[in-house]
Amino acid sequence: MSSLKGTSALVTGGGSGIGLGCAARLLADGAAVTICGRSEDRLRGAVERLGGDADYIVADVTDEKQVAAAVARAAERGTLRAIVANAGGSTSIGPLGSLDTEAWRATLELNATGTMLTIKHGARALVEAGGGAIVAISSIASSNTHRWFGAYGVSKAAVDHLVQLAADELGHFGVRVNGIRPGMVRTELVAGIADTGPILEDYLSCMPLARVGEPEDIAEAVRFLAGPESSWITGQVINVDGGHHLRRGPDYSSMFKDMFTEGDLFGH
Ligand code: NDP
Repeated sequence: MSSLKGTSALVTGGGSGIGLGCAARLLADGAAVTICGRSEDRLRGAVERLGGDADYIVADVTDEKQVAAAVARAAERGTLRAIVANAGGSTSIGPLGSLDTEAWRATLELNATGTMLTIKHGARALVEAGGGAIVAISSIASSNTHRWFGAYGVSKAAVDHLVQLAADELGHFGVRVNGIRPGMVRTELVAGIADTGPILEDYLSCMPLARVGEPEDIAEAVRFLAGPESSWITGQVINVDGGHHLRRGPDYSSMFKDMFTEGDLFGH
């Protein structure tokens, strides 16, 4: 792959998990990488681990001014060429009939609005810098239903559509926009599930390539979509999931049975 030397990249949520893996991968090819997140301690520790040309700025992707500041910081550090809209997660779980509406709103705010704000400010800066690439991290919960995941899959479906909309609007300006839908990847988000137990077994039974993903699996795909090697690809959302999307969404009933009544979950 070509060198990214002289270029700059921003990775939101780059202090841990998939974002940290993406930051490391872009750094390895020579980019100056800026990571952002809400916890300064986490970011400081990540920059120490990353070494090289890594830096951080505290920024919450749901706060427009903070997103603009994070993009501006990355743009100061080299020719801005890549934005990885990775920050995301979920506070919303449970059957639709008993969802907590505030948790639903918070998850949409984080995944859908946070990604929109990152694309909004990131795209402006990329256009000013002469063009580049945005890669958004969606989820297999967008392509395959995950029962009782509340707003999560819905908010990631919004990310997928944002990718297409942004790609259509921004191609003219030399900005490509693509997305990745990870399957289960070993990070804090799935701690306790990815190591052992019936949910893990179910995941593996749904994957033609039956293993839990690592952040590096996602980072390789991000690197490709962020760099010049994919210069004629835009508007794509690729599942990086061991083929899980070919089968069905995972079965979380063993976990949710302890949290909700049988009636709420199964209607009996
Ligand atoms: P982690 O929880 O390890 O990392 C999430 C990172 O995002 C943290 O560093 C966190 O830092 C940051 N973050 C959370 N909220 C915000 C916010 N409001 N503003 C800025 N940063 C924020 O999870 P993953 O690495 O697993 O998740 C990364 C992405 O991958 C997410 O979008 C997730 O939905 C997606 N994904 C993950 C899968 C998996 O199996 N792990 C599967 C499918 C998709 P801080 O709390 O300090 O802000």
